[in-house]
Amino acid sequence: MGKRKRLIFAVFTLVVLLLSGSGSSYNYFPVDKSVPLVTFIFDDGNDTDYTVAKDIFDAHGDVACSAITTNWINTRGHLNVSQLTELQNNGWEILSHTVSHPNLKTLPEDQVETELAQSKATLEGLGLTVKNLAYPYNKNNYTIREVAKKYYRAGRSGHNRLNPPTILDQYDLKAYSSNHPLSKLEGHVDKAYSEKKWLILYHHRIEVKIKVSGKTGNFIPGENLTFKPSGAAGKYISDKNIIGYGSVMHLVPISGTPQANDIITGQSSGAACKSDRVDYNQKKALLELIEYIHTKYPDMRIVTIDKGLDIYL
Ligand SMILES: [Zn+2]
Repeated sequence: MGKRKRLIFAVFTLVVLLLSGSGSSYNYFPVDKSVPLVTFIFDDGNDTDYTVAKDIFDAHGDVACSAITTNWINTRGHLNVSQLTELQNNGWEILSHTVSHPNLKTLPEDQVETELAQSKATLEGLGLTVKNLAYPYNKNNYTIREVAKKYYRAGRSGHNRLNPPTILDQYDLKAYSSNHPLSKLEGHVDKAYSEKKWLILYHHRIEVKIKVSGKTGNFIPGENLTFKPSGAAGKYISDKNIIGYGSVMHLVPISGTPQANDIITGQSSGAACKSDRVDYNQKKALLELIEYIHTKYPDMRIVTIDKGLDIYL
């Protein structure tokens, strides 16, 4: 190779290196994006994002995402503005989950636009940064995705699938419901890790469901509950009798772990009942799932949606 040719080759190599390092789509040297990722999203802006989930993620230095329906901010059982701000200051991502939580597929395009634009504007007006969207009921179509593109970097739906890094469907990100037994969720994690894909799990209000019996009196929604002898505490949501099954109580966990044979007492109403069996405890399941990820797959990353996009795009 002559001197002149060597110089041209050196300049060419330098240009290629600069282009590949600048994040340009001209990737001469392909970057390995196959990092297994997990994202936790809590839909609807329930206050348990703050009162229950935040501590669980904080304990490991992890972060999650809260998808907010703006009409529900500051209402009973939902996040208030200072909780939202604190979540974002702690590294959580705040997503839009529309203004009024409609099935967007039933709305004319101008109303879809209002739901997507105004929710973002409202959250930004509160000083929050909002880049991504979670579709209510995971419902979307071509028109909705086209509107979403005007305001957001990505939109999350359902489909019970993993996201591959190679063909990321940005405005129809795939996700699984977390409303399943822990073993099934661990199975999703195993699959995402072995296939080097992105697992997105969506949650709602974090609840405990207990089969109860021997109720005396009536509990008051929102009142504090004590559990003896376990020492656990919770907040009453509802209880109902299901024919062929018995009575079930739903509550928000506060502290401790409710057990079978606890006596549950309402602190305001004085109502009481006995816990026969804990059907599920979503706080405990979430804790165990995060432990599982860190213990079994220390190199798997728990990221926000926006961070996942940074890595995969
Ligand atoms: Zn929702």
